[in-house]
Amino acid sequence: YDDRDGKIWMDGELVDWRTANVHILTHAMHYASSVFEGERAYNGKIFESRWHSERLLKSGEMIDMPIPWTVDEIEAAKYAVMQANGLTDAYVRAVAWRGSGEDMGVSSKRNPVRMAVAAWSWGNYYGDAKTKGAKLDIAKWRRPAPETAPYQAKAAGLYMIATMSKHAAEAKGCSDAMMFDYRGYVAEATGANIFFVKDGEVHTPKPDCFLNGITRQTVIGMLTERQIKVHERHIMPEELEGFEQCWLTGTAAEVTPVGQIGDYNFEVGALTRHMSDAYEALVRA
Ligand code: PMP
Repeated sequence: YDDRDGKIWMDGELVDWRTANVHILTHAMHYASSVFEGERAYNGKIFESRWHSERLLKSGEMIDMPIPWTVDEIEAAKYAVMQANGLTDAYVRAVAWRGSGEDMGVSSKRNPVRMAVAAWSWGNYYGDAKTKGAKLDIAKWRRPAPETAPYQAKAAGLYMIATMSKHAAEAKGCSDAMMFDYRGYVAEATGANIFFVKDGEVHTPKPDCFLNGITRQTVIGMLTERQIKVHERHIMPEELEGFEQCWLTGTAAEVTPVGQIGDYNFEVGALTRHMSDAYEALVRA
């Protein structure tokens, strides 16, 4: 991703893609002082753009790292990057982090908080699983307890176990891993929330120790509009066997059907297909 033409917005300026670099003593690289957003633009418009920018600022506050930009400035930066790279349909990545400078230890208050926005074309996050249904491994790592991490922040530090879980899943030929939480309840995938269908009703884990995704909230709204009952609750692992359908939601994942989790199989059923198509129609509207 580093060796290509294009522009990246960094600290208020558009710089060449290849030279959008940081110093090796960047605090974020050593201590995970970084928050980010993943967004998608469709037909030139970023879906729920302001919501994402607001979440970025909130994530910064949650990790005690106030970001020195306003929502309006972040909005302008995102669209400037899309325009500079000639993109109308894109994945947009905003990131803010503690830079290098005065401090090189756990404490970093004197180092500047920096920010960048990049954008690129990105097709289906799960490739052809988008139509066929993704195969998920069951992760050995669990989402941490709320008092051990600021779980509603989209913070780099929370992704260490996600990357390890995803690597283990890929080694088994799976697209992703489903993670349990610290209590053993079903939580989410490594970068997407999870939904199940049984007897025409929808069940999804209560986001009390993991990110309550923007796509998740959007999809719950869509289901409610359609008068489909949504149960946000704790889901036990032994319930997996009884669910008929399953899908993942996320900005990158959109609505992706799941065909298998470990030894449990799900059909890519009518409601899953409908929600996947309806989400596509909504983001492009
Ligand atoms: N959980 C995790 C861990 C994620 O990284 C993401 C992607 N941001 C999501 C859930 C889904 O969030 P959203 O719908 O806001 O993209």
